[in-house]
Amino acid sequence: MKYSGRYLSLTREELLERVHAQMSEKRFVHVLGVEKAAIALAEQYGEDIEKASIAALVHDYCKERPDTDFQSYIDKQLYPEAISQFGNEIWHGLVGADIIHDELGIADSDILNAVRHHTTGSANMSLLEQIIYVADYIEEGRDFPGVEEARQKARTDLVEAVAYETQKTLTYLVEKGVPIYPKTIETYNVWVAHLS
Ligand code: GDP
Ligand code: FE
Ligand code: FE
Ligand code: FE
Repeated sequence: MKYSGRYLSLTREELLERVHAQMSEKRFVHVLGVEKAAIALAEQYGEDIEKASIAALVHDYCKERPDTDFQSYIDKQLYPEAISQFGNEIWHGLVGADIIHDELGIADSDILNAVRHHTTGSANMSLLEQIIYVADYIEEGRDFPGVEEARQKARTDLVEAVAYETQKTLTYLVEKGVPIYPKTIETYNVWVAHLS
């Protein structure tokens, strides 16, 4: 795909190189899977293909960063109090979006919010945010109980797919016995109304 230059001064090939340099081969393959799934959802539901591609390619840009990289942002910027009690799993999206803004020069707020909310979701997700949230969950490399049902829902109703993923993720985290980030619960409380 040829980028227009509207959202990013890099070509797709240059962006791929920058993203690849940040992560293991395995995660890079996941990122390419998310891009493929996100583009398919963008075509189906009428979102800008270029925004879907860029948001997908950068969504896990910070997943392999050391905690100290996030700590300097958390110290400097205004994030909710609770964020410091969590770790990379929560930071790589919520704080990662600001790192991506600074390091890749991406300023589009819809793309940044799609990165910001790809792990926790949020109460009000734009179409692009929903697409990245779902694409991250259903990309072709994912294999876990329920992924086929999630893929099926994504093919028929994106909102139902968001609700399903939100319920499954919260259930999984509770069963695992890990702390739930408040935003994850906020997301659940809104999207639970769309469970089918
Ligand atoms: P990935 O980056 O492609 O692996 O996927 P995500 O960014 O969606 O999720 C990263 C990790 O965060 C996964 O292991 C999720 O289960 C986990 N996660 C999602 N929400 C929460 C939460 O509220 N609390 C905690 N502790 N972990 C969460
Ligand atoms: Fe992620
Ligand atoms: Fe996710
Ligand atoms: Fe991911």
